[in-house]
Amino acid sequence: MRLYLATGNRHKLGEVTAILAASGITAEVLPPSAVGGMPEVVEDTGTFVGNATKKARALAAKLPAGSWAVADDSGVCVDALDGDPGVESAYYAGHPSNDAANNAKLLAALRGVPEERRGAAFHCCIVAVNTDGSVVSFEGRCPGRVLETPRGTGGFGYDPLFRPDGCSVSYAELDDSVKNTISHRARALAKFVAWLRDGCM
Ligand code: IMP
Repeated sequence: MRLYLATGNRHKLGEVTAILAASGITAEVLPPSAVGGMPEVVEDTGTFVGNATKKARALAAKLPAGSWAVADDSGVCVDALDGDPGVESAYYAGHPSNDAANNAKLLAALRGVPEERRGAAFHCCIVAVNTDGSVVSFEGRCPGRVLETPRGTGGFGYDPLFRPDGCSVSYAELDDSVKNTISHRARALAKFVAWLRDGCM
């Protein structure tokens, strides 16, 4: 079976590839560059599942028969901000997406908010679309807290500002192999892998 990853984000591509490799599934996992690159997709559905479906469908249209396109849509939902930035996480500080500007805006939005009210959760929706039109989706969530100052240099996006529950360090301070075991993305992909192992339907 061939899985083509429907993302133009090199960090996501790296994490999803590593997580699927560590899962031991026998599928061939390919980047979008194997079929000429990820098509431009406007992420305007307002939901993680809607945006992930749009991305997976766009890549599936370019694939050889029988393949799956696998998309990730994700973001961080902050309790004190009524779930923002959520599905808009990539563009919280405007277009084009800029991690430093997004992190600065999040810190500013939470200035003065005490530790006990800095709860948040990363969400990930994985959608797989087959060239025959079948669609499946899986959700993963990692609860935690938004730190008051950035910590660590690993990862991407909001990683330096997010401390997962049960950890004393931020996502950006974790080894890649640890983040790829506990993250929202790892949790959604674990469900996808279980579904693949069960024989896909
Ligand atoms: P998407 O491409 O619309 O799914 O946007 C995802 C955005 O959410 C990224 O640009 C990051 O800002 C944020 N994000 C998603 N996953 C992670 C993660 O694992 N660490 C840090 N930020 C993430």
